[in-house]
Amino acid sequence: MTLLSSLLAQTGFSDADILALLRLEDETDIAQLRQAAFEVATREVGNSVYCRGLVEISNLCVRDCLYCGIRKSNHAISRYSLDAQTVIEAATWAARTGYGSCVLQAGERQDAAFVRFIEDCVREIKQRTISETLPQGLGITLSLGEQSLETYRRWFNAGAHRYLLRIETSSPALFARIHPREQSIKSRLQALADLASVGFQVGTGVMIGLPEQTLEDLAADIRFFADRDIDMIGMGPYITATGGAMTDESMMPSHDLLQLSLKMIAVTRLVLRDVNIAATTALQTLAADGRERGIAFGANVVMPNMTPVEARANYQLYDGKVCLNESREECSGCLARRILSVGRHVGHNAWGDSKHYGRRNDARDTPKNSLQSRQR
Ligand code: SAH
Repeated sequence: MTLLSSLLAQTGFSDADILALLRLEDETDIAQLRQAAFEVATREVGNSVYCRGLVEISNLCVRDCLYCGIRKSNHAISRYSLDAQTVIEAATWAARTGYGSCVLQAGERQDAAFVRFIEDCVREIKQRTISETLPQGLGITLSLGEQSLETYRRWFNAGAHRYLLRIETSSPALFARIHPREQSIKSRLQALADLASVGFQVGTGVMIGLPEQTLEDLAADIRFFADRDIDMIGMGPYITATGGAMTDESMMPSHDLLQLSLKMIAVTRLVLRDVNIAATTALQTLAADGRERGIAFGANVVMPNMTPVEARANYQLYDGKVCLNESREECSGCLARRILSVGRHVGHNAWGDSKHYGRRNDARDTPKNSLQSRQR
């Protein structure tokens, strides 16, 4: 057995191991890493890739994240908010299409009207999507930024059961560098803890290739996911946003950035094993087959876009976002082909919950978690 083969066969990884894997540069070694991660994914989370139909509800945002194209100081885009009917119609379409779950994402707002709007949409989607094929209704994931514990509770009680909130980077210095002063890593960490305490399956992730980010930072990010007992991971390359405040700083060259992003997915799969990992859309900005390569490197979730085409152009978190002119029907067929092309199946009509979440709840022996027991 070569040194790399025995490293890849391990089930526990030290920080030095993680770093060594992220440092791989040789194409044959990277292919071996990919193969190992794909096999671990098959063994731990199965052969299916689950679709979460994405609705980008609104680009209104109270935050000013320096990297982001919809930050509040970007006055070059027109701001929009979909109405409830449009959001609910998109979700019922997802249910009919067999996606099993949807993701409601937007810029961040904490005002009472917004909190109420989301609560109403979630409740309505749940009610309208219960059917023979989806007895618990459509799975609902929220990606709506930092909120109070009370808000998280309201949204959970309305029927959402997963939440994505990226830490962006686990390095406090780098976090401070890419956010305005009023945003602290401390409150982001608190929000992640609050989400878990409410009962959500918690997703987090980082941007890869940020200015001044080191491989050590990325290795620490993977350790962070493990230490925090995270259920779902959504990571992607950092790509310059014209409307952001980091346009003077260079982005990593596309080829290197894609390779590093894929290595991050694979190493995260090897270390965390039973979590859900998304092949994010930003991968496809770097290469036409970016998302399927993410799946080949161990991802098991994709987020086909269902946002009405008229709104998509104004929801560009980064430049070069793909599928701006494609209808949701086109996105659906195209992604299914991509999934099949790398030897996976589409997980139809299933929530495709994080296996890790199930296990961490079993370990804590909390039968009171009704959503989880209902799903079984
Ligand atoms: N407001 C919500 C959801 C929208 S932003 C929230 O903050 O969670 C969703 C994610 O887009 C962010 O977490 C960030 O990681 C990613 N993102 C923003 N700008 C980006 C850029 N320039 N390149 C790559 N990803 C970016």
